Amino acid sequence: MQQADSSTQANTAAIPAHRRQPNAQGFFGKFGGSFVPPELQYQMDEINAAYQRICRSHDFISELHSIRTHFQGRPTPIYYCRNLSEKIGSSRIYLKREDLNHTGAHKLNHCMGEALLAKYLGKRKLIAETGAGQHGVALATAGAYFGIPVEIHMGEVDIAKEHPNVIRMRVLGAKIVPVSVGLRTLKEAVDSAFASYLQDPVNSIYCIGSVVGPHPFPLMVREFQRIVGTEAREQFIEMTGELPDDVVACVGGGSNAMGIFSGFLDDPVTLYGVEPLGRGPQLGDHAASLSHGSEGVMHGFNSIMLQDASGAPAPVYSAASGLDYPSVGPEHAYLNTTGRTRAATATDEEAIRAFFLLSRTEGIIPALESAHAIAFATKLATKQPVRTILVNLSGRGDKDLDFVMEKYGRYADECPD
Ligand SMILES: *Cc1c(COP(=O)(O)O)cnc(C)c1O
Repeated sequence: MQQADSSTQANTAAIPAHRRQPNAQGFFGKFGGSFVPPELQYQMDEINAAYQRICRSHDFISELHSIRTHFQGRPTPIYYCRNLSEKIGSSRIYLKREDLNHTGAHKLNHCMGEALLAKYLGKRKLIAETGAGQHGVALATAGAYFGIPVEIHMGEVDIAKEHPNVIRMRVLGAKIVPVSVGLRTLKEAVDSAFASYLQDPVNSIYCIGSVVGPHPFPLMVREFQRIVGTEAREQFIEMTGELPDDVVACVGGGSNAMGIFSGFLDDPVTLYGVEPLGRGPQLGDHAASLSHGSEGVMHGFNSIMLQDASGAPAPVYSAASGLDYPSVGPEHAYLNTTGRTRAATATDEEAIRAFFLLSRTEGIIPALESAHAIAFATKLATKQPVRTILVNLSGRGDKDLDFVMEKYGRYADECPD
């Protein structure tokens, strides 16, 4: 027994610090943890214990693997953007095509994992909030697959704005709970969903939509998204015989970025998380938490967030609704503080230009969120020495077409760049 203990310790010491995160309390350095009322803490402990047990079981691992292959269509390919790269200069830009994952984005990776966990726990309802509706659609898809009822809480303002996603959720059989208090947007939807969950935590499970929230969600969602980085590293080496110099991903809460970063943390690869700078650097005009925020607790975890003078979450803005979140996953706060990852930004304007540029050079319409990563990659690509850049294309842009043509239609007539 003693010997086993000391050999475990010796192994732990050999593992790089970033791979020992989070600790048992869910802290990545000083970030993360769980700052929730006692009744919710009890539920989080239960979910954590169950996850730690189930995620190591062969049945769980092989069922998730089979779902990824036969239902989601994984592995998604990586792709060399010859036209785009040659247009910009001598650097090479590659994409990890999460837009080709079923439902058109990376979000299904963690929703299928969360719903599979719910199945193993015998839960009879999946609960979540949604803002723009992307998380709601992915969870509704997972619910339909497993035959587990889904309840999505959504502000009335968002319901009116995000009509196509509301319809998708309905077609998939999800129940939509309209929230009519306060500003009737995401924050009120979170409160409403938590309240519903606490009414029956034994039979339901709350499914968080990114690497945020109290422990164990940042850990769990990262592990479900890790497949993106595992595949990308293997595929990149197979395609080129090398590692990329840079990996670039957009960061809202940070799940698609943590997914692809996970594959390259131990490699000599620079990792860039691109946040939305919206209309500019003034508070209220963007959602670049890592670049412009400070330490604080919100939604049950400690991280780097955008706060007003009283310490409350500041209003945030981005043309990409999946990125306008006033905090960021705690692991991003940790990796950015240690210097392992770098925070970058792209404005609305830069993202829209990248949206048209990728569409026209490669025939791939990116999600506005992903267009932020493309925008930054095209800037990196002009730097010397020439670089090899892998971008996580987190989703496809069909959902953004009406918005882009209505607000930025004039760009369609200009030749970008
Ligand atoms: C939701 C969403 C994002 C932002 O979420 P992360 O957790 O930061 O990955 C990015 N891209 C797309 C396509 C999304 O739907």
